[in-house]
Amino acid sequence: MSNVTLNVYKTISCDTLVAGGGVSGVAAAIASARHGAKTVLLESGGCLGGQATLGLVTPLDARTDTTGRSFGGLIAEIAEMTVALSKEYCSSGDEGAHSDIASPHILKYVLLKLLTESGAEVSFHTVLIGADKQDDEITAVYAATKSGIVKYEAKNYVDATGDAQLTYLSGADYRLGSEPGVFRQLSDEGLNKAHFSENKYDAYSENGLLQPVSIFLLMGGVDVDRAWPLNNKDLHFGDLGITKERFLNWKFAGSCGFEVTNDRIPMPQGRVLITRSNRHDVAVINMSRVLHIDGSDTDSLNRGELLAQAQVISIVDFLKTFIPGFENSFYLQSGFTLGVRETRRMIGKYTLSGLDAIQCRKFPYPAARGSYIIDIHDPLGKARAIGGSIKGAFYDIPYSALVSRNVKNLLSAGRCISADHIAHASTRIQGTAILTGQAAGTASALCMISGIPAQSLPDKDLHEALLKDGVYLD
Ligand SMILES: Cc1cc2nc3c(=O)[nH]c(=O)nc-3n(C[C@H](O)[C@H](O)[C@H](O)COP(=O)(O)OP(=O)(O)OC[C@H]3O[C@@H](n4cnc5c(N)ncnc54)[C@H](O)[C@@H]3O)c2cc1C
Repeated sequence: MSNVTLNVYKTISCDTLVAGGGVSGVAAAIASARHGAKTVLLESGGCLGGQATLGLVTPLDARTDTTGRSFGGLIAEIAEMTVALSKEYCSSGDEGAHSDIASPHILKYVLLKLLTESGAEVSFHTVLIGADKQDDEITAVYAATKSGIVKYEAKNYVDATGDAQLTYLSGADYRLGSEPGVFRQLSDEGLNKAHFSENKYDAYSENGLLQPVSIFLLMGGVDVDRAWPLNNKDLHFGDLGITKERFLNWKFAGSCGFEVTNDRIPMPQGRVLITRSNRHDVAVINMSRVLHIDGSDTDSLNRGELLAQAQVISIVDFLKTFIPGFENSFYLQSGFTLGVRETRRMIGKYTLSGLDAIQCRKFPYPAARGSYIIDIHDPLGKARAIGGSIKGAFYDIPYSALVSRNVKNLLSAGRCISADHIAHASTRIQGTAILTGQAAGTASALCMISGIPAQSLPDKDLHEALLKDGVYLD
């Protein structure tokens, strides 16, 4: 039964329907189309890349294992092309210009080029709004467009919406935020123990809290070398050569994230957090943070946009007023959408745990690999970050973490794969999102060839296909 009552003006049939054109969805669509499946990708915005482009999240992390070996496949292809073109067109080409940085604008071009060359079709300005299901299989999805409602009928569906929107709309199982007691599995794991003292995170893990939201911004005209010594440190008023009184007279003192509580400089993320870019004089700023926002809830999402967008201008002024090296800087741009780190995740046939990731667990016939640190931006805003390193070169992600446990032809990719709150804090990173996208898209195409739903595909078949496509899974 459809839960959509509006008139459908057009029906499109395909083998693989990918919902969401972030890096994971694009990887899924390219992989599916390259394997011969008729593939359609729906994207609510007007460009590809999601957080990586619209959100200006420039670092394409987890391209390699922790020893530096490339994960190959689409992450290598996308990153190499993007970095080379970014160097050619965006770099200042001098000392201080970091050559390994991907420009979001170049990434937008590269993703579209690879997608269209693969034969996949993209439909921009198309918002997924509903799904039909019969006998535990999705039979169609619906999207709102400028011209009306379009119905898409596919054999398999990939949820790459970040927020597990398709999972939610189809009635498949999902989880929002942290699982009850999720940190207890880590008692002997030696992640930064300070974060777990006095059981303070027991309460947090019971409540399904979510990582905070942020907006990236770029500042030009920066003397990055002068600012660098203050980066990523606790700062007291004396460190900036000012008094608390002087700070309290600053025009944004007391605004969101700059509430003075003690002798430390109050900042939304608790620290100056800048990275270098491909211009020596441009710094990428990741200093905004708004707590207690649920990006899968419309009212909460709106509140997040309001607070974070307002916060941006105060961060710009803070940097220009107080941080050496920013005196003559100027505000270049900020993300065109809120940066949401965590919302819903599909519950798959298997849920990757924090312990799996930290202990670098190996699975027979893995579908993807991750290598990033566990990076939980504290939902309570007390710690700068909760987490730490994984204890090996990489962890495996099995295919069963990409397939819904209760909807046979539903796959997930990127931020919304089946991982617990702790593992998700590593799998959400862009390199891993691309690799899970490649695996999900390849799986969907193999299912089309065999005439089976995603849940029935043997792990070994997918693994071997990915190996042939140059993904480092041996
Ligand atoms: C503030 C911040 C900082 C980060 N820092 C880093 C970092 O330093 N390094 C790193 O590697 N990663 C970082 N990440 C993580 C990374 O950017 C994301 O987790 C990753 O890009 C997610 O990719 P995705 O494809 O799964 O989802 P997204 O990029 O969120 O893409 C989802 C896409 O689906 C579309 N969509 C959603 N709903 C619908 C719908 N109903 N219909 C149609 N389309 C829809 C959206 O428009 C979007 O384009 C950061 C994330 C944030 C928020």
